[in-house]
Amino acid sequence: MNFHILTLFPEMVLQGLHTSIIGRASEKGYISVNAVNIRDYTLDKHGKVDDYTYGGGAGMLMQAQPVYDACMAVQEQIAARRRESGARIEQNGGARVIYVTPQGKTFHQDMAKEFAGEEDLILLCGHYEGVDERVLEEIVTDQVSIGDYVLTGGELPAMVMIDAIARLVPGVLHNDASALTESFHNSLLEYPQYSRPEVWRGRRVPEVLLSGDHAKVDEWRLAQSVERTKRLRPDLYERYLAERETV
Ligand code: SAM
Repeated sequence: MNFHILTLFPEMVLQGLHTSIIGRASEKGYISVNAVNIRDYTLDKHGKVDDYTYGGGAGMLMQAQPVYDACMAVQEQIAARRRESGARIEQNGGARVIYVTPQGKTFHQDMAKEFAGEEDLILLCGHYEGVDERVLEEIVTDQVSIGDYVLTGGELPAMVMIDAIARLVPGVLHNDASALTESFHNSLLEYPQYSRPEVWRGRRVPEVLLSGDHAKVDEWRLAQSVERTKRLRPDLYERYLAERETV
């Protein structure tokens, strides 16, 4: 899967995504992370990418032209690659363009799963007061927020999303099955987990986990997940119950 990040701070996203599991996934070719500097596409001879907002108000706004040209260049690269491989090309190049914004739908695990099914994703990071509305109307297919708070730029939200999406791409996690037991799968939080030693500061690992009886371990883990979800996330627990009724 290929992530293309349209940003004014490419070094920030590249540094943030080159370590640990996501870094290794890039090295091994399960994913690619392409950071595109929007400033490279400005037609302004001083390299300017922002300007005052019409109607007044605090702060600067990212202008439409550099964002549009950067996005179109990426869509064209994607279309060229897909043409080479003989794939059918949508009119606009075909890749979904996500604008990360506090005004978008709140990101969640089901969204991550849906995005993980895409071959290419373009993420547009705003800065300053945001981005000229006209270019958003022209190029954006999805608007996504990572929560009800305002950050200075879209780079951290883009990294959060890429991390959550990439770990669902087959091969990225050492053991793909681990994503199937993690929190939010089946609308449950994950059960408590323990590693060595068996006793730490007088606290014992639950006996059932040492029993070697896999059926009993599974039963205990499910019960723990259900109890924990009910206690910590009653909203999610309601969803779990509703989903069970429809099965
Ligand atoms: N003026 C905008 C508003 O009130 O909706 C906020 C602009 S914010 C200071 C600058 C950029 O950071 C946004 O364009 C967006 O890309 C990003 N951003 C800030 N908070 C975010 C959040 N919660 N989720 C996703 N992106 C966010």
